[in-house]
Parts: sequence; structure tokens; C-alpha cells
Amino acid sequence: MSTYALSAAKFLLPGTVKRGGYLVIRDGKIGWHQDERPAMDIVELGDSWVAPGLVDTHIHGFLGHDVMDASWEGLQAISRGLLAYGVTSWLPTPLTATVEELEEACATVASRANDEPGARMQGIFLEGPFFTEEHKGAQNPAYFANPSMDALGRWQRAAKGMVKKIAIAPERPGAPEFSAEASAAGVVVGLAHSNATIAQAEACVNAGAGIFIHTYNGMRGLDHREPAMVGAALTTHGTYAEVICDGHHVHPAAVKALVEAKGPDHVVLVTDCMRAGGMPDGDYSIGEFPVVVANGTARLKDETHNLAGSILTLDRAVRHVVDWDIVRAEEALRMATENAADANGIAGACGRILPGRDADLAVFAPDLTVRRTYLAGELVHEA
Ligand SMILES: [Zn+2]
Repeated sequence: MSTYALSAAKFLLPGTVKRGGYLVIRDGKIGWHQDERPAMDIVELGDSWVAPGLVDTHIHGFLGHDVMDASWEGLQAISRGLLAYGVTSWLPTPLTATVEELEEACATVASRANDEPGARMQGIFLEGPFFTEEHKGAQNPAYFANPSMDALGRWQRAAKGMVKKIAIAPERPGAPEFSAEASAAGVVVGLAHSNATIAQAEACVNAGAGIFIHTYNGMRGLDHREPAMVGAALTTHGTYAEVICDGHHVHPAAVKALVEAKGPDHVVLVTDCMRAGGMPDGDYSIGEFPVVVANGTARLKDETHNLAGSILTLDRAVRHVVDWDIVRAEEALRMATENAADANGIAGACGRILPGRDADLAVFAPDLTVRRTYLAGELVHEA
């Protein structure tokens, strides 16, 4: 079946939602949408949504594996496992570690990225190590440092150019200069794990930083006299804001405030999933720290009990923002596809149903549960 068409109730296309009709797939690539029934094999998907495959741009691990394990088999297992959740693209996300450990994690991703079928590794998001202690979350402060283009250069060489995004704390010395230079070098700069004032955060935004990492978490909260990082996330023009919608990291009302401030086209759903995603409750680890997973959260096993990433899947985040009456299904799906791709400099590769693109698609029931996943036009998951 090298040429066929999908028939469904709704297609999430770049500019509109098309009701009914047919999406033609040719040799694994997206063809076009048409209203008339074409003379070719038709796959009937009934009342489904056909959407671009989901794009998870902040994810540390899944199914017992972590990007920091620097294991090719582990990365492949994550890639294959994500397909069952409608995810067809992801950014493997290392966290704070030594320069050498991060080099190794980057080199492992770049060594054979996308050699085998699975959700595509569209680049790397370095979450650390240029952070500050006050909001360290589950990042190891022993390796925190000031932003350094030399270090970024080492990681980018190890990654064969796959580093797409790096997060920094704006109050670190040299943060605005780093924001300018990294952005000019084609790496998106995110702001995270920081006690910055709004002025410090704005200085980085004005120098090129483009996205707030897991907004509200790992940053100083909004005070009416010092709006801090959260204030900058809510008010800076054109920036994107990630948010973790698992119901534990951020209250739905705070998600609603964020979406209303930024507009649904500048909010990005992420999971921040760690290795226990898709696994039973129990004892795990993040970096060098032990973590306990119970009651829907992953928390450090120390006196802080800080959240240590999540066990969220991106399809569930999409359902949550709709169930919480914050956005419509169309907007929720765009927050996990188009916005994610746009915010991370990977919109040329994924996030939209566009002619000529690989036919990486997610098929959802009306309640937004995943029915099917297609990778390059091949059915790779069916619920
Ligand atoms: Zn984080």
C-alpha cells in the first residue's frame, strides 16, 4: 500500500481543521487533503482526529531508561515506547552533570540517531548545567556553572550539531551575552531553575532567549512588586512557555492564567518525563539521586521531596488541558505539535501535516485517547 488515503472526521492541518475528506499518503510522505474520495485504498478512521505526531521537547527518559545512561539501546527503547502515546518526535534531554558526562550523552544520541524505527530524535535539549541553587529541583548543584560558549561548543561537537536548545538561569554572570551568542549559533536558549528577577529574565529575552522551561516550576514565583521569572514568562512578547500538565506540577488555574497571558499559540505542552514513565510505582533514580514514584509523582528521596521530573505522557497532557476547560481540542493538539516544533527550532522537520513531509501522524478518538500512530506512513501502533 504505497499510496493510500486516510478518511477521518477531522484533520488538524496547519491553518485549519478540515472536517471529513481524505489525506493522501504516498511512499511514506504526506500528499495532500481533498474532499472527494480518491481512487485508491482508503483507511477508514471513522470519528477520529488525524493530527501530526506529537512532539515531546522536554523528556529525560521512559520505560526504565534515561538519556543520561548514555546507552544506545536505552534511547531506542524510549523511541519505540513513545509511539504508543502518539509521539513521533522528541528531544532527548540530558540534565546537569559534568562536562564530560554531557559530552558522552550527546555523543550517544548523535552516534546512530534514527537508525532504527521509533519516535525520531530531532535534536538534544540540554537542561543544565548553568543553573542556580535556590531552585535546583532535581538538578545536581555540584555541577552548576556560569554559562560558557566553550562548554556548549564541546557538547555541540559531540552531538554533531544536534543540540537544539539549552537552558540557563538568567542571574548567572554572562547570561545575556550567552543568550545572544548561543541564539546566533542556532541554539534556542531557555530560561530555567532560577531565582532571577524580572529584569534579569527580560535581559536574556532581549538578548535572544526564547522559551521558559517548565514555567512556574524551578523558578521564583510572581510577586506583585517583583514579578520574577514567572512574571517574565507571562508578559514577554513572542516568547514561548513550556508547562507540565500532569495535575501535580502546576495547578490548572495557573495553566489557565499562562494560556490567557501568552495565547494558546505560545504555550508548549511538555512531559519532563523521567525514567519511571510507563513503569510501575517504586524506587528509581534521576542523575545521581534516588527517587520514589507513587501517587502520580516522582519525588527525590531526601528532605526536600522535590518533584524529580514527571511520569506524564504527552497525550495525557493534551487531554488534561481540554478536560480542565482551558483550551479546545484543536488548540491542545497544536500545543503539543506545532508550538513545540516552532519553539525549539525544529519546525522544518516535524509538528505539521505538510505535503512532502514524512507521514508521521497520530490518530485520536474524540476523547483524545490515542488510537493509532503512523511513522513514515507505516502503522506502528494501534490501540
Ligand atoms: Zn527542570
